[in-house]
Amino acid sequence: MSLDVKWALAWIEKSRAAIADARIELIDLDRQIGDGDHGENMDRGFTGVAKALEESEIPDIQSALKLVAKTLMSTVGGAAGPLYGTAYLRAAKAVAGKEELDAASVADLIEAALGGIQVRGKATEGEKTMVDAWSPAAQAAREAADQGLSGEEALRAAAEAAHAGALATEPMKATKGRASYLGERSIGHLDPGAMSSAILLEQAVAAIDG
Ligand code: ADP
Ligand code: MG
Repeated sequence: MSLDVKWALAWIEKSRAAIADARIELIDLDRQIGDGDHGENMDRGFTGVAKALEESEIPDIQSALKLVAKTLMSTVGGAAGPLYGTAYLRAAKAVAGKEELDAASVADLIEAALGGIQVRGKATEGEKTMVDAWSPAAQAAREAADQGLSGEEALRAAAEAAHAGALATEPMKATKGRASYLGERSIGHLDPGAMSSAILLEQAVAAIDG
């Protein structure tokens, strides 16, 4: 399957389903180091995205990602709403006019998403946030592109890196967001936003596999 608008729509639908499945897990993670609403917030957001999709004509990848951005921005709330909203909005812009994504465009998309998150949240790597999933993902995608790999291979590398990055948040001490209020007590727990980010990038791969 090529990384075209059909893939983008499949990515969104898979994201909705996977986030719904992970709702309780994300709530539990956020209960450990936050306020327990992350699973609820994300599920509401992607349910809203699916509804908005039914009511819209989506001609290209950019429009698909823009719809996700707008809907998440208005429905997710909390810290994650504006962070993900900005991520998808920048990602949409990064692939404007593209019918199909190659590895370089995949890297552009993920780097743009990461950039949006960082502009909004001011976090860098190692602060136990979703940046710790998106940053290694962006690096992996860019490396794949530089090695001349396919868009699909770039996406697979990115999803794997995001997953590893999310798991690597466990021993970190949170220094941004609500979890930072816990200080040392945030150590030993996975960051919910990094985990939801890994899930979303994994669904981009699942959308290829059908
Ligand atoms: P809230 O913290 O307002 O309850 P959520 O629970 O929906 O919002 O989302 C929490 C997640 O948001 C965290 O797990 C973390 O990944 C992410 N996050 C919070 N603050 C920042 C930040 N400044 N930069 C990047 N990500 C952040
Ligand atoms: Mg929360």
